[in-house]
Amino acid sequence: MPVSEQYKDLLIQGTRKELYRALELKVGDIASILRKTGFSCTQCGNCCRDHHGDNRVMLLQQDILRISEHTGLYATEFSLPFIPIEVENVLKGISDPSDMIPFTDSKGNIHSFGWMLRRKKNGDCIFLEAVGPSFRCSIYDHRPALCQTYPFFLEDCMLHISDCKGLGSDISYAGSIALSRLVLDRYICELKESILVYQHYEHFEPLGANVGFSLERFKKGHVFYIVHDSEGAHRRCERM
Ligand code: SF4
Repeated sequence: MPVSEQYKDLLIQGTRKELYRALELKVGDIASILRKTGFSCTQCGNCCRDHHGDNRVMLLQQDILRISEHTGLYATEFSLPFIPIEVENVLKGISDPSDMIPFTDSKGNIHSFGWMLRRKKNGDCIFLEAVGPSFRCSIYDHRPALCQTYPFFLEDCMLHISDCKGLGSDISYAGSIALSRLVLDRYICELKESILVYQHYEHFEPLGANVGFSLERFKKGHVFYIVHDSEGAHRRCERM
């Protein structure tokens, strides 16, 4: 959504404060919540699949570099602009086009913040492979921070837990410490990247009520994005 210069400064200040508080968090405190909650990955692959619900995997810059380095793939081959859920629902034809007005500029470009993993035609993650009746991640050792820490994440310095079949199972002391370290590292990276995104962000004029202009482009099979990330604004054209 468009952000005024004044609001941008407030966002930077607020995120900096959150980062300072995050740097005070203790891995041991997070680990003790994890042990009380219990968790063991069942490798069901549900969180990577479309039928699970929202399976968008947001990528940190370090995720993109690590996956490129270990797979030999260009970033464009496995990442695409992070699509706000409102826009995704319009593109899928299940929401009213007016829902994407706040993300679309007067030239019909959709503005996106950051990158996410591509998905296959069936909606599952591109790195998910079927192995008989089960599934496996083909980049398991190099998977994004979000996948390494699922179903846990920190927001506003509070631990949040997503739906997962593996919750409630025993987790060892060492396992809880290692996972908590990953959860905290991910949170700190996310906050640092957010500050850079806000600093580089360039204001855009919203589309207003003329959403039909942008939809005409979609009908031709293309979506034009401007992606705001920690390095600035990037243009990307994606086939629908
Ligand atoms: S990268 Fe691996 S763990 Fe993450 S969603 Fe894709 S298949 Fe699942």
